[in-house]
Amino acid sequence: MPRPLFCAGWLAALFVPAALAFDIPPLASIERSCELIGKRLASVNPEDCRNAGLRTSLTGTVQGQPILWRDYRSQLSRGNSQRILLLGGIHGDEFSSVSMVFRWIKQLEHDRFQPFYWRVIPCLNPDGLLRVPATRTNASGVDLNRNFPTPDWNETALPYWERRTGSDPRRYPGRLPLSEPETRWLTRHIERFRPHAIVSVHAPFGVLDYDGPQQPPQKLGFLRLHLLGAYPGSLGNYAGVYRGVPVITLELPHAGTMPDAAQSARIWADLMTWLEKSLPEGSPLRASPLYREPWRAPAQAATLPGVPLFSDWTP
Ligand SMILES: [Zn+2]
Repeated sequence: MPRPLFCAGWLAALFVPAALAFDIPPLASIERSCELIGKRLASVNPEDCRNAGLRTSLTGTVQGQPILWRDYRSQLSRGNSQRILLLGGIHGDEFSSVSMVFRWIKQLEHDRFQPFYWRVIPCLNPDGLLRVPATRTNASGVDLNRNFPTPDWNETALPYWERRTGSDPRRYPGRLPLSEPETRWLTRHIERFRPHAIVSVHAPFGVLDYDGPQQPPQKLGFLRLHLLGAYPGSLGNYAGVYRGVPVITLELPHAGTMPDAAQSARIWADLMTWLEKSLPEGSPLRASPLYREPWRAPAQAATLPGVPLFSDWTP
């Protein structure tokens, strides 16, 4: 049976007021971050989160939350495994996407003989997840999945938002591409990690979406292929269409309830099968003429108020 993900009694007092310009709150510890995520998501045990070997970004989101991440290397092949980036919680109100990645973290902890080198980021948007109520956008009101630097961003992102979404605040792409600390951080990871594929978990459309050069999987578990299209500034458009990296987007059917264990195991097994037979030997990441120094934010972003610049990099 699906489990509810909401925790009753989530404390409104845990919400941290928005940071003022250049008034960046101190970075929360991993203990605090796991405690907050565990209070928000019934499926995430704070102790499991603390003991999962997760690392924190060295600087944080607008509200001082670290982005948690860790690597899992294959015990089968040393040094030349194909690299997979697994990502949840780009939209803060899609709880099941975070819970699913935490569930697959347990899978990776036990499956030492899977063939890939994984970089796992259970929640890219902790500010959106932890707000009360949770928000799709980050603390600056930006839809992170519209803030990636697709080549036509300057011409298309804001006009698309205004005309096609009716200026829906849930889909605001930001003032500039990579204006947000979360997208800058992830883009830098993509540049340095050079994934052979990206798996991004969302909800609640109950389909499988795909962007990139390979033939897409027709289904993963009960999720069937249904191409949703490429949007200005989306991760699928940026990494899949523009940079040439297969981006598999799993849209779980419910934001507030998880697929059951058997369903998620079937999705995982089908995903592994597709990755093993479909990925190229070398990283398909195409060079980006836009970002020759991609670990640095665009110069304009440095002037945006309330946006802490990441200065850290730990390979
Ligand atoms: Zn989403």
